[in-house]
Amino acid sequence: MEKTLVLIKPDATERNIIGSIISFYEKQGLKISQMQMMEASVEKATLHYSEHIGRPYFDELISYITRSPLCALVIEGEDAINKVRKINGNTDPEKADKNTIRGSFGLSKTENSVHASDCSENAQREIKIWFS
Ligand code: ADP
Ligand code: MG
Repeated sequence: MEKTLVLIKPDATERNIIGSIISFYEKQGLKISQMQMMEASVEKATLHYSEHIGRPYFDELISYITRSPLCALVIEGEDAINKVRKINGNTDPEKADKNTIRGSFGLSKTENSVHASDCSENAQREIKIWFS
């Protein structure tokens, strides 16, 4: 069993589609093991996205992720990290398959509705940031 960190991002919580998004994961047999609405401070958001510091989209990303509450989840299951990344889809909603979360709901490259950890090291790091 593997654990991964998902954030349902502000563009999605603002449009009241948290339930629709969670059902994508549950339908694939994944378990929600923790879940909480939170306000991301600039400090927490910067820590979470520290590998993106200095990128041209960084400031836009931090102001977006801190503008409304987000829903943080720990999702558990066999091969959960890869499964959740596939269910989320391509970072750019225009390139994402239509049956993925980002293909269904994402608005732009920045406002792409969900985050998921990309490896087990980052999953552990990110779970500590949001659930400590
Ligand atoms: P992913 O979320 O698919 O792992 P990245 O780790 O590359 O993607 O980027 C983290 C987040 O930063 C993305 O989900 C998106 O919100 C934002 N982002 C990434 N690349 C861009 C870009 N080129 N322009 C605008 N926003 C971006
Ligand atoms: Mg990433």
